[in-house]
Amino acid sequence: MKSNVYIETMGCQMNKLDSELIVGELIQQGYHITDDLAQAQVVIYNTCSVRQHAEDKVISKIGQLGWRHHQQGDLVLAVVGCMAQRMGRQLLDNHPQVDVVCAPGQLHRLGEMIHLAQRDKQRQLTLNDPSQMEPLEQLDMAHPRHLPKTSFQAYLRVMRGCNNHCSYCVVPYVRGPEQSRPIDNIVTEAKRLVEAGIIEITLLGQTVNSYRYSDGHKKFHLADVLEKVHEIEGLQRVRFVTSYPRDFDERILQAMADLPKVCEYLHIPAQSGSDKILKAMNRRYTAQQYLS
Ligand code: SF4
Repeated sequence: MKSNVYIETMGCQMNKLDSELIVGELIQQGYHITDDLAQAQVVIYNTCSVRQHAEDKVISKIGQLGWRHHQQGDLVLAVVGCMAQRMGRQLLDNHPQVDVVCAPGQLHRLGEMIHLAQRDKQRQLTLNDPSQMEPLEQLDMAHPRHLPKTSFQAYLRVMRGCNNHCSYCVVPYVRGPEQSRPIDNIVTEAKRLVEAGIIEITLLGQTVNSYRYSDGHKKFHLADVLEKVHEIEGLQRVRFVTSYPRDFDERILQAMADLPKVCEYLHIPAQSGSDKILKAMNRRYTAQQYLS
């Protein structure tokens, strides 16, 4: 009999999307999903490293599972996401109850890792390796996606990683450099989501407005993605998050003005109104540039 899986998701929209993909994949492999931690034989924490507090919370949850792990020999505890990449082997060395550590770029391997941990009682560690990242052409498409039954809204990843290296942020180190998905691939996934009943799509990227994709001589920009996705029949609303202030340009605003399905909704984190602090944060714009 396959096990019950309990999954808890911390952090940003990227993690929420990753969790939907993990759940879809595990259901396909025959696992059941439970929202009762006490009934689970597999516990997954999809973690966030944005603040110390977020990591402390996970360490405390891991600690709470220690006794049960000791009692219930077949419990598998998996730590995935940004904290898994940032701490890596330390999580295994310092926490004997952790069985699986899987970085965000390697989640396509998580099902297999859980299976090996259950079957062979061998602890598993997979960190991001650029040569083993899921190809961008297949990104998110090779997996069955688990959408909550009542959901009318879905996230759609248009790029991964970030190049900005803001001084306080772990993302470029745990999710790698910026890479944009092929535009056709994005449209295909958007159509699938609409066929599954989704009416609102949020395009996701750490710096979504810096989306750039080249196909031969053709170069595509976020405004092109908005136009293409806008054409999909049955889709009613499109949003995009999160934008990096310096990369914002007129074409995106024009697309928002011209395309009725694109919501008048902008998320452009300012981070600070002080140029001195912005510089210390390595944000590469001034307060005045942000305002204009
Ligand atoms: S732009 Fe955003 S994701 Fe990239 S390093 Fe800065 S805060 Fe992190």
